[in-house]
This record gives sequence, structure tokens and C-alpha cells, in this order.
Amino acid sequence: MNFAFNRNAIANILKLLGLLGLLFFLNSPSLLAKNLASSPRECQPEIIEVTSGVYVAVGNTRANITLIEGDDGAIVIDTGDNIETATRVLSQFREITQKPIKAIVYTHSHSDHTGGTKAFLTGDRPPIYARANFQYGRIDNRKIQQINHQRNERQHGIFLNSEENASLNKMWCKLPLENNGDGFVPPTHFFTETQLSLNIAGVALEFISAPGESQDHLYVWLPDKQVLVCGDNYYNAFPNLYAIRGSYRDPQQWSRSLDKILDRKPEYLISGHSLPIAGAEKIQRIITDYRNGIASIFEQTLAGMNRGLTPDELVEIVKLSPELAGKSYLQENYGNIPWTVRGIYSYYLGWFDGNPTHLFPLSTLEQATRITQLAGGKEQLWQATQKAFDDGDDRWALQLTDYLITLEFRGETVKQLKAKILKKLAERATNSNAHNYYLSSAKQLE
Ligand SMILES: [Zn+2]
Repeated sequence: MNFAFNRNAIANILKLLGLLGLLFFLNSPSLLAKNLASSPRECQPEIIEVTSGVYVAVGNTRANITLIEGDDGAIVIDTGDNIETATRVLSQFREITQKPIKAIVYTHSHSDHTGGTKAFLTGDRPPIYARANFQYGRIDNRKIQQINHQRNERQHGIFLNSEENASLNKMWCKLPLENNGDGFVPPTHFFTETQLSLNIAGVALEFISAPGESQDHLYVWLPDKQVLVCGDNYYNAFPNLYAIRGSYRDPQQWSRSLDKILDRKPEYLISGHSLPIAGAEKIQRIITDYRNGIASIFEQTLAGMNRGLTPDELVEIVKLSPELAGKSYLQENYGNIPWTVRGIYSYYLGWFDGNPTHLFPLSTLEQATRITQLAGGKEQLWQATQKAFDDGDDRWALQLTDYLITLEFRGETVKQLKAKILKKLAERATNSNAHNYYLSSAKQLE
């Protein structure tokens, strides 16, 4: 591993850099730019030196942990998902610097970014910074905590083993989900402004409010180093604008927050789940595409809604342009377009799709009973279901199993077929959330 850390190697590099002078270092193409161009290495645990004094631990915990070395102390941005993995990262950070940690910053409250804090509280308790609307955990509304939690478990495949869990091959790798959040410590310092400038350990920092992946999201901007830490407002996948656990992220807000990255024209971008990116031009290009991708899906959806299209109709036509659809960082392996479109629709218009048929639909039981009658009876419907499965007509077969389950026909046998279909769909899913939800549901049925 080119970037694997070794204290002697670093000391030698620093000596060499000292000789060449900091200016030269800042103006030359970085190691990162040369080495990261095309390497899919998100899941190899390593510490990457982004630029002088800025390091990011990738592939160690589900979310990246950033270390900034200042004059008389260090700053940690995000703390990973649990004490054990964060402790491992800290020991590697300690090979870089022994300086005390003077501050911890949370880019947002999600547990994969805040769950390892206790590991970093080794000396004096440093202040922990966050946005004033910081809300720990993924539960957006305590009143629906129970159902939100259940859906979250399926979405993230909490009960799947690491082989089965597709928690983003590239984004979250195959890292264990156990003890998630066991090292969480609440923030101690909150900022209410849209922008706050600070100097910690001799490092100039700006906190910038940036709602997107969450409402309590912030960026950390290091003006002297031209580094922007953007948390989860950018990662190497189409953004998760509607999380199927039941959480909607406003595409307009997210786009505006991406504009805040573009405004700063950073030379280095550190994201919560992907490899850091070097090169101002490259970052401008990627973030512009990302922003335009989100804006385009949003605008197409609203235009279609205004023409009276239903969610089912919209998902057939709302697409990224062929150019954007080909970008590696807009692939739908985490967020996806159909769920985003449905999310936007329900945010603005609620559950009603405009079709009067759906104002007072027949109950699920009534529908199952009548479809079965049309099919010639339960036995015939069961045969049709099996045939659909044998023919590879999986989503239709899945729908038919639901009618039979509603009618409590053949109990376990039908449920087992449903589980089998879900597993098949999971296997073929390219979206990690769909994969996990299908497979977790199959396991629960079994
Ligand atoms: Zn995250």
C-alpha cells in the first residue's frame, strides 16, 4: 500500500519537504493527485496525507476520520462508528503526531460519524463542535422511533453478516456494524451562525452550515490549506435524497450546500465515505455535476407533477442526462432516482397521486379476494405465482405472493417462496439499500 503509514518514512518526507520549502509543496501537484486518479481503494484501511498537516483515515471505520495537525495540538473531524475502530485509527494518528487533541468536530449527527468519540478523549476533554440543531442518531422524529428504527435496520442490513451486507461495497465497505455508536459523546460547543471562523491550535478554521444529507450538517473549511471537509454532502454515489427508512432530504437545500463548496474552490475535498479528491478544477467539475444531477432530477419531477403525472408515471421518465448518467459518482448504488422522485412527490403532494380511483381504494383483503376470483381460485393463483417465479418474472411473482399471504393460503409455503424471490432480487440489486432491505426482509420471513 503506497500510503500505509510509517513514522520513519513520514519523518523523512517531512525533512525533504522542509528542504524544498512549503511553498513549493503547496504549488506542486500533490502525491494524492498523482496516486488517486483512478484507484478504487475506499475499502483498504489506510491513512492518507491529503496535504501538509491534513490526514484522513479511510477504510478503517464506516465513515472517514480526518486529522489536522496544528502548532500545539490536533483537531479531529468525525470519529467513526465505534470505540474499537476509532481506537485503531487513533493509534495510527499517534504515529503522525503526539500533540494533544484540542478539538473534535462533528460534520453531522449520523452515528457512523460520531460513534467513536470516547476513543479520542484520552487527555483533557477537548471541546466538541457541532451545529446548534445537532440531533444524535438517525431518528428524525421520536414519535415514529419504533418504525423508523425497524426500517433503518433493514436498510442498513443490521442483521446481515458482513458477507451478506452490501453496505456500499465502496462507501461503507464490508465493515462490521456491531457496537455502532458505543463511543458517542454529545457535543459541548454549538454554533448557530451560517458561518463561524475560529483558530484552534494555530489552524484557521471555518465552520459552514450545509444542510443536505442531514439538517444538522456542516462543512469544515481550512482557508490556509485550501481543504474542505464536506461530510456526507458528497460521496462516490448518487445521493440518498430519500432514505427508505423514511427520511427525505431537500434537493434544493442539498444543491445550495454544494454551491458553498464551489464558492470556496477548494484544492482538496475530504468526503465522509469516499477517497479524498485533489485538484481544484477536478473538484469543481465533480461537484458541479453532482449539483446539476440533483437539480435536474428535482426540476424534472416538479415539471412532471405540474403536468399531472403520478409517481408511477414519473419514475418511468425522470432520468439523468446520458452524460451525467455515465459519471462514476452519480451511479445509483446508494441513493437512487426512482425513490428520489417518489420522495419529492410525497413531500409536496402527500400520498394522493391525483387518480380518483385511489381516493377510497378497496382494502388489501378485498383486492386479494377479487384478484383470486379472477384467477379462478386460490390454487390457480398459486400455480400462476410459481410459474411467474419459474419464468423469472420476479416482481410480478412477488406481488402475487402478497395476495396469497393476505388470504393466508398455504401459510409457510407461500412465505418461503416470497423469501426466495426477495433473495433473488437482493442478489441482482445494484443499490445497496435495496439489496439490504430485500435480504433482511427475506431473513425475517424465514
Ligand atoms: Zn455517513
